[in-house]
Amino acid sequence: MSTRVGTGFDLHRLVEGRPCILGGVELPHPSGPAGHSDGDAVLHAVADALLGAAGLDDLGTLFPDTDERWRGADSRALLTEVVRRVGAAGWRPINVDVVIATEGPRIAPHRAAMRAKMAELLGLAVDAVNVKGKSLEGLGALAGGSGVAVQAVCLLER
Ligand SMILES: [Zn+2]
Repeated sequence: MSTRVGTGFDLHRLVEGRPCILGGVELPHPSGPAGHSDGDAVLHAVADALLGAAGLDDLGTLFPDTDERWRGADSRALLTEVVRRVGAAGWRPINVDVVIATEGPRIAPHRAAMRAKMAELLGLAVDAVNVKGKSLEGLGALAGGSGVAVQAVCLLER
């Protein structure tokens, strides 16, 4: 058996009136991530971690934001396609771990739902998918507090 580790990072501005979709779950919050797709920075970072570990092109190359096909795209569908491609390359996810840094929505009340949704999309047990929220300590990083940054790490095996 061989294993590979992958890392992914994503950053989106939070904009008033956009649905706040993170980790495949809609959070009750007055602003949400801007983007060509639904802006789900969590699923984007996870997808890039998987693609990176499998030695495949990154998310922006596979689903370019210049392509009208992906306007408003549901990132859950993008991640499902990424899992399919990673599988076709012979790799299977073992676990995923995510840090969400934001002063926007509170993450803790939605951790369980995000873990369950991502576990379903990745074909993993819930305990193999973790999510941690991190405040930015009021330091004004990330567009004066109106941004979300996500770091993801994954392990693959074949
Ligand atoms: Zn993104």
